[in-house]
Amino acid sequence: MRYAIFGDIHANLEAFQAVLADASAQGVTHHVCLGDVVGYNADPAACMKIVQDLECPVVKGNHDEQACEDGNLAYFNPLAAHAIQWTRDHLDAAQKDWLRNLKLFRLVRNFTIVHATLDSPGSWGYILTDLDASASFSYQHTQLCFFGHTHVPRAFVRDTRVTEYEPSILTLEPGKKYFANPGSVGQPRDGDWRASYLLYTPGTQTLEWRRLEYDIETTQRKIRQAELPERLALRLAEGF
Ligand code: ZN
Repeated sequence: MRYAIFGDIHANLEAFQAVLADASAQGVTHHVCLGDVVGYNADPAACMKIVQDLECPVVKGNHDEQACEDGNLAYFNPLAAHAIQWTRDHLDAAQKDWLRNLKLFRLVRNFTIVHATLDSPGSWGYILTDLDASASFSYQHTQLCFFGHTHVPRAFVRDTRVTEYEPSILTLEPGKKYFANPGSVGQPRDGDWRASYLLYTPGTQTLEWRRLEYDIETTQRKIRQAELPERLALRLAEGF
């Protein structure tokens, strides 16, 4: 058994396809999606269809939440707000219902999944520091939890204190808790433009972060054709 753990796809079809092809080549048997299927890029419906067809556990992200509502977007930055409104205009009622019905967090076998934080999953706070992670650990009842939202691949490990790892491969040890972020499929923000996800292999208790090149020119062309903000195309190449 091997899981592909991915999130923050953000309607980037080319990046998502690259991740799924790599996952298949790596012998993945199960998929798990950490939310933000839509938003920013130009293929929300196609990415959502793939996630639906995988029939995998999915949690709701803040962009998923906003895409199926009519509420005002004042607290989003202008780029995100523009993209959310565009996404609202390009999803039908059934697609919005699917997004609306996603849960904020879920238990999957022996691990938990959440988009943002476990201490307040619907408030969409960002886990960026050991202190942020400590608050979430207080509500983590499984040894392992996966989260997204920051678009930065990271792991926080709680032993006697919380330590942050910039990960490549991590072996889980008994007595410790792990809060791990696979990074973003469709809009990485750690300075590396390549799509990011992770493999979780329960048999060996290992997490392995993966980075993949994809056809970014096609993704950028689609953003321009959709008349989404040019900045969204440029930032993809910068990895921010
Ligand atoms: Zn996101």
